[in-house]
Amino acid sequence: MSALFISDLRKKYDNGFLALNDINLSIDYGDFYAILGKNGAGKSTIINIIVSLIKKTSGKVFISGVNLDDNSIFIKSLIGVVPQDVNFNQFESVSDIVFNQAGFYGFSRSFIFDRVKSLLSFFELWDKRNTISFNLSGGMKRRLMLVRALIHNPDILILDEPTAGVDIFSRKVILNFLMELNKLGKTIILTTHYMGDVETLCNKIAVINKGAILKELAMKDLHFFNLDKFFTIKVCSVDKLLSFNRFKISILDKNTIDLHLSNNDSLNEFLYFLMSNNINIFSISMRNNPLEDFFLNSVINDKNV
Ligand code: ADP
Repeated sequence: MSALFISDLRKKYDNGFLALNDINLSIDYGDFYAILGKNGAGKSTIINIIVSLIKKTSGKVFISGVNLDDNSIFIKSLIGVVPQDVNFNQFESVSDIVFNQAGFYGFSRSFIFDRVKSLLSFFELWDKRNTISFNLSGGMKRRLMLVRALIHNPDILILDEPTAGVDIFSRKVILNFLMELNKLGKTIILTTHYMGDVETLCNKIAVINKGAILKELAMKDLHFFNLDKFFTIKVCSVDKLLSFNRFKISILDKNTIDLHLSNNDSLNEFLYFLMSNNINIFSISMRNNPLEDFFLNSVINDKNV
């Protein structure tokens, strides 16, 4: 049984716009799954259907085997959602927001107190528990939304751009927590535009464009795609490289080269050449991001555009 199973999901908005065109998706328990797509691709529409904020036009959605059509209320207890925009009452205090959310799931304040305290503490919000949430920073608000989404210990956590516009500190806290949570077996589904986050966190991705899934990929298979790689390499001296034409290199200055590797080229071979010629390597940095290239290529080559 999948954690999330979607078949032929279609959404036509009232104005006639077809936002989802028969989407199929299957996400396993324990997956850390990224749905990637340009703005307007349809990511939030999928999430909003799952959480019953909007109605699908047709198709099926199952969460942990439960059909959304049969029991949307029960499904709410299986998932925790962090939407893109702040959607709590900004005139309530931090602790009221979390305790009230717990109340929706039938937990009394005394029963849930320890969990609230540990979640707020982890996200460094315990000291802010009496603060009116309007006065929190953007990053704190995002962390509070995470606490609220997790209060009932859902099987599946769904995050719509969890780190968009947050400061580096909040970003680190959020990413570390998500990583730990997934290691403990929680299924996490997120949308994001930060490919670095996806590379660090996710084991699978789907690329969506114009309401259709273009590609699904296990991150471990990314290297099978024919993607060029570009490196900037700092060395002690470029002199011995001036006549070297086995690889595509450009000399930038007396210590710096740009290396362009096609898919069949071996970085090992290039590094071996440097070492066997006593060219010390000071640093190597990759200039492009293979996942970003995969994403951009998928979207650019979409025949439906
Ligand atoms: P994403 O989350 O990938 O940025 P959305 O799911 O928010 O994309 O939107 C998908 C498409 O559906 C966009 O073209 C958007 O303008 C359109 N859309 C979203 N909500 C509505 C609505 N209520 N009525 C009409 N069109 C909508």
